[in-house]
Amino acid sequence: MIDPFGRSVTYLRVSVTDRCDFRCVYCMAEDMSFLPKAEILSLEELDRLCSAFVAKGVRKLRLTGGEPLVRRNVMWLIERLGRHLQTGALDELTLTTNGSQLARHAEGLVKAGVRRLNVSVDTLDPARFRKLTRWGRLEQVMEGLAAAKAAGLRIKINAVALKDENEEEFDDLIAWCGREGFDLCLIETMPMGDIDGDRTAQYLPLSLVRARLARRWTLEDTDYSTGGPARYARVAETGRMLGFITPMTHNFCESCNRVRLTCTGTLYMCLGQEDAADLRASLRASPDDTLLAAAIDEAIGRKPKGHDFIIDRRNNRPAVPRHMSVTGG
Ligand code: SAM
Ligand code: SF4
Repeated sequence: MIDPFGRSVTYLRVSVTDRCDFRCVYCMAEDMSFLPKAEILSLEELDRLCSAFVAKGVRKLRLTGGEPLVRRNVMWLIERLGRHLQTGALDELTLTTNGSQLARHAEGLVKAGVRRLNVSVDTLDPARFRKLTRWGRLEQVMEGLAAAKAAGLRIKINAVALKDENEEEFDDLIAWCGREGFDLCLIETMPMGDIDGDRTAQYLPLSLVRARLARRWTLEDTDYSTGGPARYARVAETGRMLGFITPMTHNFCESCNRVRLTCTGTLYMCLGQEDAADLRASLRASPDDTLLAAAIDEAIGRKPKGHDFIIDRRNNRPAVPRHMSVTGG
């Protein structure tokens, strides 16, 4: 699949549910209304959709959400998708998770062919963790991480950089990741969806964070890339990678290789734009995939050049009305 700007689309991110067992302050309002169950694709339909993308040249699949591991029977889907790894059609099947359910699923994930995970941990302080996730328990996530590590999964920690919240903790996070053998990626907040708080108060530019970290750590620039928007440095003292995802201060759209599918079968060609394609209608219109394949081609033909996130300081309105948990982070 080649888009109008010559970019090859080889990476599909799938939000398998918009629900979550946490309510992170930058991601959701405490009192969220979720999609009615009837609108959500069945696991069989998600398998069919993902497989149609694999048939069209997608080499990497990432399941996300909401929290992917709270969807009932999600392991069935993960095992089914694992067959594309065995045939060689897919290079990688992976997940972004909050880690709360990892203790019971880590071994099953490895059996299905998953080798790497992104796990979100914004703070190592249990009280702050509770405050930032509203409903989460750090201890449970730590147990999940230990199980994932024991099962042989490689782990990258994602931490959203939040002004006045975890900004004093990045040294500790770097040191902890070094000890555990995890890579770390810091993420700037993106203005997506209504939350209860004030986003301009949360925003912390990573250029500032990086300059501060460089006083304590030796950050060696690398051209290491996982095909995504993160710029990586190697931390000489720990030997681990430290990534910076800066959608607000750096435009990474020119090398974008991805599209995003929601759990209702809506395809977003860009995280920061509203334009979308309804693949559920084509999926359900016929048991064979001809219509679906045509709808996918048509959508890729509309992939926009890029996004323009702006935290609107006057209105304090999100630039994109849908929540990150709908499109998947
Ligand atoms: N529940 C899983 C998790 O937390 O990892 C997967 C979904 S979550 C939406 C994916 C990633 O998006 C997480 O690392 C989360 O911290 C990040 N995220 C959520 N809302 C965000 C926002 N407004 N700006 C930047 N990152 C955000
Ligand atoms: Fe849930 Fe992930 Fe959003 Fe936190 S960031 S509320 S864990 S979907």
